[in-house]
Amino acid sequence: MEAKVILKQDLAAWIDALVKQYEVIAPVTEDGVVVFRPVSGLSEMAIEGMVGPAKSLREHFTPPTETLFDYKLEDLSAEVIPPENEERHRVIFGARACDAAALLYVDAVYSNVEPIDTAYFMRREKTYLVGLFCDKPAWSCFCTEVGDFLTNPVAMDVYLTDLGNRYYAEPLTPKGEELIGLGNFRPADENDKAANEEIRRKALERLPKRAEHETACLSYDWDHPVWIELAKKCLSCGACAFLCPTCHCFDIQEHPKLKKGSRYRCWDTCQFEKFTLMASGHNPRETRKERTRQRVFHKFKYSQERYCMLGCVGCGRCIAACPVNIDIRKVLEELEKTAVAK
Ligand code: SF4
Ligand code: SF4
Repeated sequence: MEAKVILKQDLAAWIDALVKQYEVIAPVTEDGVVVFRPVSGLSEMAIEGMVGPAKSLREHFTPPTETLFDYKLEDLSAEVIPPENEERHRVIFGARACDAAALLYVDAVYSNVEPIDTAYFMRREKTYLVGLFCDKPAWSCFCTEVGDFLTNPVAMDVYLTDLGNRYYAEPLTPKGEELIGLGNFRPADENDKAANEEIRRKALERLPKRAEHETACLSYDWDHPVWIELAKKCLSCGACAFLCPTCHCFDIQEHPKLKKGSRYRCWDTCQFEKFTLMASGHNPRETRKERTRQRVFHKFKYSQERYCMLGCVGCGRCIAACPVNIDIRKVLEELEKTAVAK
């Protein structure tokens, strides 16, 4: 598909055209951090010079709390009321390549269970992604160590790169071409292509090289001393999991009010002690040693074994947010020293 270019002076009109047809969700600054929220125009957006958004796209596909159904009880019968469907198609504008790649992993997880998660897949189907190349990787980013999706994006419809006074736009799907058709784009010329290549080259220079985690993770040591070290430091706060674009665990709860009520699900994490607590009182992951190991094994070893892909897209949010400076890159380094030595 042919690459195009839009001048920044024409961006507002393109966003207005998108807003007329879709709900547009884009990065905005909220309480001093960048998060994705519905917007009504370019003036609300924080895409110029954006570093990593604090939160991923996760909440737009699996909300932190979501009603599964309401119910009413009458004598011995129960009426189940399903939640209303979200009718409008959406465009997520300015998505990072790591967050888009995370969706492919979550798709694999939700495709692997019965019954199918209709709420998740309905949102996926109704959402188009306009990605934005990350030309200012944060100190904690390591996406290029776990994949090549920064330069070969996945799960996007359009990929934009900021060329200063204009955006370079690569349509990646027929829907992407349609979205581009709503703006004042012109075909990219050789200068635009060279500028795009140069920006990519500079960003890649600042990022780590591809590592072979896919093979190394298969021999990670269950009894490695690193788990004891992590257990001593970790606070079980859950920040790493709640900011992670590939984490997807939830709990299911009831909210009864006399003869009616709701059943809802809410985010949960394997970093919390009660996540695996059984009704018998037994807890197979009783200490932080088991819980921190679970997170790393799940992201790397189990995901590779189950879905032939890593469960980490190197967004670095868990590194930046951890209050005790636990850095998953260093954990992998420790594990792989012995994995290679075996
Ligand atoms: S494990 Fe950390 S670096 Fe990897 S995707 Fe999750 S938050 Fe990002
Ligand atoms: S953010 Fe750090 S302290 Fe909190 S649960 Fe994760 S690893 Fe532990």
